[in-house]
Amino acid sequence: MHILIMTDIEGVAGVVKPLVDTTGGNVNYPRNCRLLTEEVNAAVRGFMQAGASAVTVWDGHGCGAIDFETLQPPARLIHGGPTPPLVWLFSRLAGRFNAIAHVGQHAMAGERSGNLNHTQSSAEIISYTLNGREIGEIAQFALLAGSFGLPYIFLSGDQAACREAEELQPGIVTAAVKEGLGRASALTLTCIEARALIEQQAGLALRQHLQHPLPPVRWPGPYILRKSFFHTEVTDMYLGDANVRVLDNHTVELRGESIPEIIYK
Ligand SMILES: [Zn+2]
Repeated sequence: MHILIMTDIEGVAGVVKPLVDTTGGNVNYPRNCRLLTEEVNAAVRGFMQAGASAVTVWDGHGCGAIDFETLQPPARLIHGGPTPPLVWLFSRLAGRFNAIAHVGQHAMAGERSGNLNHTQSSAEIISYTLNGREIGEIAQFALLAGSFGLPYIFLSGDQAACREAEELQPGIVTAAVKEGLGRASALTLTCIEARALIEQQAGLALRQHLQHPLPPVRWPGPYILRKSFFHTEVTDMYLGDANVRVLDNHTVELRGESIPEIIYK
């Protein structure tokens, strides 16, 4: 049982403020990378104690957020950048894994109770919908993994991210390390308690999955992805693209037959 953990930084206990806490070059950033990596270590311990044979960690935060010296064995790390496109890379690696998890994940853009809520680019994106249903980064990755037959078994993040994962995948086990009090504030566990909770819940997630396997997250196609942007110059980038309908000044619509071809377009 080989688990893939996709990481982000906005759902980590102690990381709370937009930009200054989440982007390189700021005074708290190296500490926040260590906070994330210790939460990842906790999840790895939980999975290994519950019977995992291997855990691979994918450093999913844009500028890189795993502190390499802090990451403990037996984890393996996918990192670097610019990497090949995520879907291309994932399609080549998916056969090595048996299930996926999120650590440090945040809620979708527009979820007001979600600390650091956003979808992909907090400067550009108002919202995404897929076949009429609002989605964020949680559904994007769970659906991509699901299209390769990989179930989604665990998430740690703030309460709103946990709710989002539970709505997407009933039966998933979560660990809420903070309660968003708005996009830029939260009521947070200590890092010691956050790590203990993540270790316990990751272990529970894998034990439950081994006893009663969760199905991969799959939605029937074909797919219509609508993307809404704050600024019109982002909309303009799609002008003349035969595969995209520009619906209004802020919204474009893309169609696809499969999840891999559309979910990160
Ligand atoms: Zn993110």
